[in-house]
Amino acid sequence: MLILFGWRTTIEQLRMLSLVCGHCHNQAAHHLFRRRTKPTIFFIPLFTISSRYGLQCTFCGVSYDISKADALQLGAHV
Ligand SMILES: [Zn+2]
Repeated sequence: MLILFGWRTTIEQLRMLSLVCGHCHNQAAHHLFRRRTKPTIFFIPLFTISSRYGLQCTFCGVSYDISKADALQLGAHV
């Protein structure tokens, strides 16, 4: 019997924030996003095994992970 098993990662945009970038030092819009990874069986996603938060600067494009506590402080709704 053949079982198709895999992973699926989705990125969900939570908010748009105006912050000073830690890389280019410009005040620019930042995407606050959540990246979830789920195992799949026959291409059907199951449960979340990894959930990470991050910010991406729209001026220079740099992206970095932040903690869940920081994401909640920035207004992410879980
Ligand atoms: Zn930047």
